[in-house]
Amino acid sequence: MTIQQIRSFAAGSWIDCDDSAREIHSAVTGNLIARAGCASLDVEGMLDYARSTGSSNLQTMTFHDRAKMLKALALYLSEHKQKLYEISFATGATQNDHLIDIDGGIGTMLVFASKGRREMPDDKVYLDGEVEQLSRNGTFQGQHICTSLKGVAVHINAFNFPVWGMLEKLAPTLLAGVPAIVKPATASCYVTELCVQIMLDSGLLPKGALQLVSGGLGNMLDKLNSQDVVSFTGSAHTALKLRSAPHILENSIRFVAEQDSLNASILGPDAVFGTPEFELFTKEVIREMTAKVGQKCTAIRRILVPEDQVETVIETLKAKLSKVVIGDPALEVTTMGPLISNAQKQGVLNKAAMIAQEAERVFGDPENFNVEGADADAGAFVPPMLFHCSNPDTASSVHDVEAFGPVSTIMPYRDLDHAISLVNRGQGSLVASVITNDGDVARDFALGAGAFHGRLYFNNRSSMKESTGHGSPLPHMVHGGPGRAGGGEEMGGIRGVMHYMQRTAIQGSPDILSKISQKWVSGAQEINQNDHPFTRTFHELQIGETLNTASRKIKLEDIETFANFTGDTFYAHMDDAAAKRNPFFPGRVAHGYLLLSFAAGLFVQPDEGPVLANTGLDNLRFMKPVQAGDSIKVRLTVKHKTPRNEEYGEVRWHVTLTNQDDDLVAEYELLTMNAYENSTSES
Ligand code: NAP
Repeated sequence: MTIQQIRSFAAGSWIDCDDSAREIHSAVTGNLIARAGCASLDVEGMLDYARSTGSSNLQTMTFHDRAKMLKALALYLSEHKQKLYEISFATGATQNDHLIDIDGGIGTMLVFASKGRREMPDDKVYLDGEVEQLSRNGTFQGQHICTSLKGVAVHINAFNFPVWGMLEKLAPTLLAGVPAIVKPATASCYVTELCVQIMLDSGLLPKGALQLVSGGLGNMLDKLNSQDVVSFTGSAHTALKLRSAPHILENSIRFVAEQDSLNASILGPDAVFGTPEFELFTKEVIREMTAKVGQKCTAIRRILVPEDQVETVIETLKAKLSKVVIGDPALEVTTMGPLISNAQKQGVLNKAAMIAQEAERVFGDPENFNVEGADADAGAFVPPMLFHCSNPDTASSVHDVEAFGPVSTIMPYRDLDHAISLVNRGQGSLVASVITNDGDVARDFALGAGAFHGRLYFNNRSSMKESTGHGSPLPHMVHGGPGRAGGGEEMGGIRGVMHYMQRTAIQGSPDILSKISQKWVSGAQEINQNDHPFTRTFHELQIGETLNTASRKIKLEDIETFANFTGDTFYAHMDDAAAKRNPFFPGRVAHGYLLLSFAAGLFVQPDEGPVLANTGLDNLRFMKPVQAGDSIKVRLTVKHKTPRNEEYGEVRWHVTLTNQDDDLVAEYELLTMNAYENSTSES
């Protein structure tokens, strides 16, 4: 059998492993299948290449360019995923596990691609929050902006998700415009190597955007600077060692850590045997114990159950666990494969033995279990092991020892406060779940345990069909946790991109802020054109381009017509005496919606042209009542432009309505879709 030589990809070339390479064994057979590592890898050259070539290539692109690249990359990976499935069986992963790792990774990339297009500008500057008023007259204002770091992201990943673990970090990094050097865990790096090869073969990535270290990192971390980021996933032990290195501390190098976690799931006090929640709870526990053979950072390690439900839960779980088919992960019948390696197996058995000091094993004998289609002794097989700890208040290992395998402990709780105090003994976790149909339980739990957890997952009869599972980190939501879980955060939508960008407070005049942010700031100079802005295409329109309309007088008859036409005969529009009794109104007033309609009548240019549709209105405020006899005029200013597809983009207009005394009556942002081509300019 040929032994695969796993390469690194450094400064644009594939580098073979050398004599220093470490051996990698099949999880299923225990056979030597690959070697990885190259002691002579030029790690400084890799960093230079990323910082120069990779960074400049990515940072000529806008967020939208990068998002489009991510989408194309994800689709390309999806076309080639069969190859990844095939090679992944040797890690012990079943086809269902592939869906979590490979399809989950691709899906994560697609979500970032979509969020990049929808939630970030077609620009290189990302605005964080709104403009801050720093002066009385508004000539000096503030805005927080985020710009791409000029360094490189070093991603150090755990063995359990060779694809997802890479892609969930890579997507936000590339979206931020920062090149990445990926260092997968050696035990499963052959899958990551193939995934990197596929991405490079796609030709979609600019040069220098992605490099790979298979095997050890050498002294790369000692060569980082303050523009670089280390994003680490793995054990608390390794994280502590790496993040506390003097060079990392002295240079304040960003270090995002995702580490181990004693996640818990709680059966709500209401979710007694016979309820849909009880069945749901036991199903989720079984899934979390066996998916990826429990080698998931989010897996349920502690099962908290009301005292009077303990026996029933144990019996139900035992019945379900006895149906788990352990074996060769490539076989269709297999529902749980082996652990990643025999070293990992030994580690899990040692940890299980520590838990056994304080808890009774009620299911799973590692000396006696069936394995389908593989040699139980040669591969890294273990059975699911369920423990029962009857006194979790005095026990410590059940709250502290992470057996990174199919090992979980049931413990009783007296009441919700007791459950919360036990859950929090994990000293900071990635996720806790509560299966309950009682909203008060959920709120009390969120208040009592939220601070100890990165994610709280509630599930019940109404959400169970569509819910995504206790153990699934989602790209939209933050993944990470306080304390023992590492104190880091990843993903969470655009929040995840910000790990690779610097937030800077910008202070200056409205004109300066508008120019930097490419977003018109109130008080900045107006640009006036001869042509009506509705006749100008998306690209012709400039930020700050403004239309000031004529004014229109509001008549009592207008108010009455509008009231009768729409049915909105609210007393403030119809009854002068009643309106006067209201603290907001001087008497009968015009409807706010009437003013908006009149405003449209004042600013619209009616001919067919580049404005395709009015798609909405944001941040509407009515500031001052308008009465019959008053008049209004409108100012319409191009605030921001966002391309949406090949034909049109969104224009955000800042709109103000003022009265005859120039007092602000209403303010809002109007959204229109504007064509890139002027449809009226055809022959
Ligand atoms: P690990 O032994 O800590 O290794 C993690 C990564 O660190 C691997 O890529 C490893 O490379 C690398 N590494 C180890 N020593 C290093 C050093 N001196 N310099 C540079 N890199 C070094 O963890 P693991 O066994 O792969 O993963 C299991 C653990 O990860 C579990 O505790 C689990 O809870 C945790 N985990 C957490 C998350 C999360 O999101 N919070 C996700 C998955 C897993 P080598 O393989 O080459 O040694």
